[in-house]
Amino acid sequence: MRIERELEGLRAATGAWRAAGRRIALVPTMGALHAGHLALVAEARRRADAVVTSIFVNPLQFLPGEDLDRYPRDEAGDLAKLREAGCDLAWLPTPAVMYPPGAATVIEPAGPAEGWEGAERPGHFRGVATVCTKLFMMTRADVAVFGEKDWQQLQVIRRVVADLHLPLEIVGLPTVRDTDGLALSSRNQRLAPEHRARAAALPRRLDALAAALAAGRPAGDALAEARAALAAEGFGVDYLALVVPETLAPWPGGQTGEARLIAAARLGDVRLLDNIPARVLA
Ligand code: AMP
Repeated sequence: MRIERELEGLRAATGAWRAAGRRIALVPTMGALHAGHLALVAEARRRADAVVTSIFVNPLQFLPGEDLDRYPRDEAGDLAKLREAGCDLAWLPTPAVMYPPGAATVIEPAGPAEGWEGAERPGHFRGVATVCTKLFMMTRADVAVFGEKDWQQLQVIRRVVADLHLPLEIVGLPTVRDTDGLALSSRNQRLAPEHRARAAALPRRLDALAAALAAGRPAGDALAEARAALAAEGFGVDYLALVVPETLAPWPGGQTGEARLIAAARLGDVRLLDNIPARVLA
């Protein structure tokens, strides 16, 4: 596996692949890799001839006071996992490579970026959209693989790629979970043991909520009850909502169809995100 930290090296590798007619897949990550990330790498392997995984803890998507400095980092461990997973190139740019002095251009997504995480973390999706667009251009990937774990992020990226006519395909993969149902996340390792023991209540509540909606229970009542139950279980609930999957708009009352349940909830100072599909009968 090649390891590149400078744009020249990355461009040499991907340029040679393109000249040889090889299809390139990109898996963007912030490192501290777990089985969820590695599932994306495996899918990238299936869909392309050459796989680039980027590891970059993107300062632009963290707000002041967020966990940028405490974000878990394990470069040696990550590289070993990527080698094992059959990744061809690890792209490890520094902040100065990604944002050279004088950098002044950003991508400002609206639409699906506006509510939920976009409202809780103003500027977050500007950072995500900007870094992903840069990664797409830098690697000249034909396909990029993302996790449904960050559902809103996936919809924002799809919107940006469509709106800017970027010539690549975006693939979303289902969330990989721990044995108790908790969605794998690099931030889980920062959960205190008592919080980790309680964390699977979040996906359990989502599953119960989806079952209630599928049985025809009115969404407003079921959501309010689930929020109260999570609060009683010690979660600080930032939001728990039923939305239109692609736009993230609130699900219209009384409408039947395929919706998405999305949630963000805090245990201690760790924020957990989760989401699942939900068939609404009401
Ligand atoms: P991150 O390193 O957390 O920024 O995530 C990098 C990519 O991995 C994103 O596309 C995430 O949605 C995806 N990802 C993170 N956790 C999971 C998971 N548990 N299952 C599937 N994909 C995931």
